Amino acid sequence: MNYNKKSIEDIEVAGKRVLCRCDFNVPTKDGKITSDKRIVAALPTIQYLIDQGAKVILCSHMGKPKGEWKPELSLKIVADRLSELLGKPVIMAADVAGEDSKAKAAKLNNGDVMLLENTRYIKGETKNDPELAKALAQLADVFVNDAFGAAHRAHSSTAGVADYLPAVSGYLVQKEVAIMGKALANPERPFVSILGGAKVSDKLNVINNLLEKVDTLIIGGGMAYTFLAAKGYNVGTSLLDAEKIDYCKEMMAKAEAKGVQLLLPIDTVVSSSFPSPIDGPVDVETVPSNQIPADKMGLDIGEKTRALFAEAAKNAKTVVWNGPMGVFENPTLAKGTIAVAQALADSDAVTIVGGGDSAAACEQLGFASHITHISTGGGASLEFLEGLELPGIACLQDK
Ligand code: ADP
Ligand code: MG
Repeated sequence: MNYNKKSIEDIEVAGKRVLCRCDFNVPTKDGKITSDKRIVAALPTIQYLIDQGAKVILCSHMGKPKGEWKPELSLKIVADRLSELLGKPVIMAADVAGEDSKAKAAKLNNGDVMLLENTRYIKGETKNDPELAKALAQLADVFVNDAFGAAHRAHSSTAGVADYLPAVSGYLVQKEVAIMGKALANPERPFVSILGGAKVSDKLNVINNLLEKVDTLIIGGGMAYTFLAAKGYNVGTSLLDAEKIDYCKEMMAKAEAKGVQLLLPIDTVVSSSFPSPIDGPVDVETVPSNQIPADKMGLDIGEKTRALFAEAAKNAKTVVWNGPMGVFENPTLAKGTIAVAQALADSDAVTIVGGGDSAAACEQLGFASHITHISTGGGASLEFLEGLELPGIACLQDK
């Protein structure tokens, strides 16, 4: 995949109708936005378009209405918040690319901003229906994709619309592609990747690709146990993907053949059950990773492993981290994740964190400002690391 894509600065937008796909999929509770981070993150692109005198038409999905007009998933609350942040009115369309959108888009003046309704109100959106893509394209002269979090999806508003309009990246997508593209194409070495988290099956597939690129691969969190099982250890009641044990054996052999250092937990914090509530009290002990009792589950990496992983991360020049080392939501089980976050924060390497929970962990634990780049896309950043082509980026014009 070519990472050298045109951005909004490489195309004339003054006086043009610009359709900009944002990621306004904000968390809400009782009809109120609980975090406006994603709206704030989109401001640089929107402000640039306003300053250039474009007629700005924004669109996004929110939640999973699956083609139904669910009022609780209306983007109206986003328009209100965006209007406060921009200090100017944001015109709210009553539909996605229907009559109301067309009428309002036709009346826009240079520098005006309007927002379409939730793109997933239309069934065709997630099927990349060309009818919806065409309808969206007819509203505008130029397409800007600034929704990295949705770039791994081939939907009408993320990729399909680019079949009918000149398409470029916004600042968010540009930054993601520049930093992650460089880390993958031409990393400063040693290049260390740290994987963890709970989505074991999803993430195991990344490993094959990463082994082609990294000098050291560190595996912790819920993913580690399938590897430990592949080494013949008993992993008790820990997260395990039994179907992937052979795959893990292959990956260990591949790492050895390629001279890639593969680090697995050498000790493990175990408990008899998963904490409930997740941040409630939990009885733990630390055992060597090859001595996990049959009735216990591993919930964090042990102290020796923390030191081992931190040391490897500290010596790196590029570190890519995806997935917490343990159940970090629980203070007793957050120590492994804290140790890794601290190691990244202390290192002068290029540090990239992807994955919703990993990003949340960095923020909650106070390390975010010491990380080079926290990706705005969980699934998208993972697919990027896997070397897969992201439809929302592949569709943009090459430089
Ligand atoms: P991300 O969102 O960063 O991609 P995931 O969603 O894959 O990460 O995984 C995050 C979750 O993994 C967290 O909620 C954490 O509690 C859980 N987790 C980490 N280690 C373990 C473990 N050993 N057992 C069970 N869950 C774990
Ligand atoms: Mg997650």
